[in-house]
Amino acid sequence: MKIGIIGLGLIGGSLGLDLSEQGFQVVGVSRRQTTCDIAVSMGVVSAASLDFEILAGVELLFMATPIGAISATIKAVIPYLSPDTIITDVASVKQPIVEEITPLYPNFVGGHPMAGTADQGIEAALRHLFQDTPYVLTPTDSTPLEAMEKVKQIVNILGSKLYFATPEQHDQAVALISHAPVMISAALIETCCGNSELLELAQNLASTGFRDTSRVGGGNPELGAMMAQYNRNAVLFALNQYQQNLAQVISYIEQENWPSLTRFLADSQLHRPSFLS
Ligand code: NAP
Repeated sequence: MKIGIIGLGLIGGSLGLDLSEQGFQVVGVSRRQTTCDIAVSMGVVSAASLDFEILAGVELLFMATPIGAISATIKAVIPYLSPDTIITDVASVKQPIVEEITPLYPNFVGGHPMAGTADQGIEAALRHLFQDTPYVLTPTDSTPLEAMEKVKQIVNILGSKLYFATPEQHDQAVALISHAPVMISAALIETCCGNSELLELAQNLASTGFRDTSRVGGGNPELGAMMAQYNRNAVLFALNQYQQNLAQVISYIEQENWPSLTRFLADSQLHRPSFLS
């Protein structure tokens, strides 16, 4: 099978590495020629170009550009594809993409691999990034079954754990576990860096705990901003819920209400393992 990838960065590049390794013929399109050259030299794709013509004959096309470029890029690439080509995307937000693309190109399956690192660009691409990580597909009533089956097959080949959700449910759930945590973690980093008198000592003392809690706040800023822009209502809902919980914690400490604070922390200690299991 010939597979195309548009957007040869962290996610597109990582998909290309694994799919090429599995024996698929993978070709890519990116914005810069240097990225195309690096992708070929890394073995991400067998050929890459700035020109959509390289995608002739692809059976499956992954859209892996930044969220804000997906709709315009799909509109521009449609004339280069056979109507049999299945398009799937990897964007971290689903409802606006699925709503816009489905009427334009019915042979489309929305998707989101829940895997990443703090890095970006083709050099950040990693083998087996999607192994044992969740991969959500967000079909609608009009998604063709054959297209779904093909994308499911590829997700299984990547070694991911397959899940299904509506685009709306997906966006609400990822706001809680991914998009809001990016904002919360970024705010924590800024809180630490804003304390100039203690900065050096705090930096020296920061160890594994701070590494864990600050990791997602130290990632790609454009991606974080697009999560908030394209999933605004769900991100605001999650952050408001978080703010209420934080206000509760602040009030326990102000009132020196140690039993209630202990109960709050005991609940979170109890809930974390079952949430993550
Ligand atoms: P990234 O590393 O910045 O890669 C995106 C690549 O797309 C860039 O390297 C750029 O390549 C290329 N590009 C930008 N505009 C383009 C255009 N108009 N046409 C063709 N190529 C274009 O970002 P990423 O983290 O891989 O994110 C890509 C998608 O994956 C996003 O939709 C994001 O929501 C989704 N996602 C990200 C993560 C994550 O943790 N990072 C996880 C899951 C899903 P050039 O070098 O050629 O400019």
